[in-house]
Amino acid sequence: MTSRWTKTRTIPLSAPDIAEQDKAAVLQVLEDGALSLGPRLPEFEQLFAERVGSRHAIGVSSGTSALHLCIKAAGIREGEGVITSPFSFVASANCILFERGVPVFADIDPETLNLDPGKLEDALSTRPRAILPVHVFGRPCAMGEILEIAGRRNLAVIEDACESIGATYRGKPVGTFGQTGVFAFYPNKQITTGEGGMIVTDDDRIAALCRSWRNQGRDDSQGWLQHRYLGFNYRLSDIHCALGISQLRRLDEVLAARARVAALYTEMLRDFPQLILPAPNAPEHEMSWFVYVVRLHDEFTCEDRDAVLKGLRSRNIGCSNYFTPIHLQPFYQREFGFRKGDFPTAERIAERTVALPFFTRLSAAEIDYVGAALRQVLASLPARHGVPVAH
Ligand SMILES: *Cc1c(COP(=O)(O)O)cnc(C)c1O
Repeated sequence: MTSRWTKTRTIPLSAPDIAEQDKAAVLQVLEDGALSLGPRLPEFEQLFAERVGSRHAIGVSSGTSALHLCIKAAGIREGEGVITSPFSFVASANCILFERGVPVFADIDPETLNLDPGKLEDALSTRPRAILPVHVFGRPCAMGEILEIAGRRNLAVIEDACESIGATYRGKPVGTFGQTGVFAFYPNKQITTGEGGMIVTDDDRIAALCRSWRNQGRDDSQGWLQHRYLGFNYRLSDIHCALGISQLRRLDEVLAARARVAALYTEMLRDFPQLILPAPNAPEHEMSWFVYVVRLHDEFTCEDRDAVLKGLRSRNIGCSNYFTPIHLQPFYQREFGFRKGDFPTAERIAERTVALPFFTRLSAAEIDYVGAALRQVLASLPARHGVPVAH
């Protein structure tokens, strides 16, 4: 295979979409001089609230700090359980531990990769206080069922929408169904501020608390050195906010570009017999493309998947497994005694995932190159029972 990418550069797994106007917006803050707690923060928050249709939006330093404040706002205390997904980025469970709560994992739906509302019985029997669904890879959770269960059991709902900005469930943006919802702006997300997060809520009391907690527990009506609560420095600077405002204005364009890249991949890979492609949109939801993750059929092993990652990397293609389930992360196994086999669906899927390069400016030629490389690498896997061998 001859290609200029093999010789000149690696195709990255992800890349932010930074336009000239984004750069100009950041430079303008530096010119103006109000680098933190200036006018960009409320401007970003107001734009964001309007975009998702929430009463309040509170900008913070990361998605992780946003999740932490939502756990605090839900009043989670030592020993209290919060149901969440093991198939996620580790922060969605760590935030529960920050308040000495207990993550109560439940297994996922193999199609959506989100919490399976039909598999919550064991978790519910622990009498949890809250549920923290994660809209993983940009695909909305079954919010109808989750809200119904939460309503019946009086559970607070905290939505981790960090991977799902712009996704909708029954026409309503994800993040706006629960007591609180969280978004994140790390550079691999659909839009970025470098580092940053956003809490959305319709609850005036929670919004005021989160604004105070992110700013050292200060109260607007008191002096700079009066601290009403135990707070944090979870502020989002105006430099970050300027980038966020500019990126948010381009959100629809960015989401459309990502959906086009996903469609090109799906078109190219649909006949690869070894692969399961991301599920299409369901009638009740519209996803927001965060990553393009394919997986090997169940007949293949974790070692086969690792060989695929190695083969792609040797051809200068950025790729990753997404994710190691949270309960199998070393810290969780050590502290809580989780073991392989605890959440079999999440594990079966996690052992077989391959995230391919995915970002707005990925060209059709680069996608072709990835497809050709993937075909070669898959053809070199050992034949497994029940899977036709690719030619
Ligand atoms: C990105 C992400 C977060 C937050 O990450 P930060 O790096 O702290 O902004 C939380 N949950 C999920 C599922 C994520 O993908």
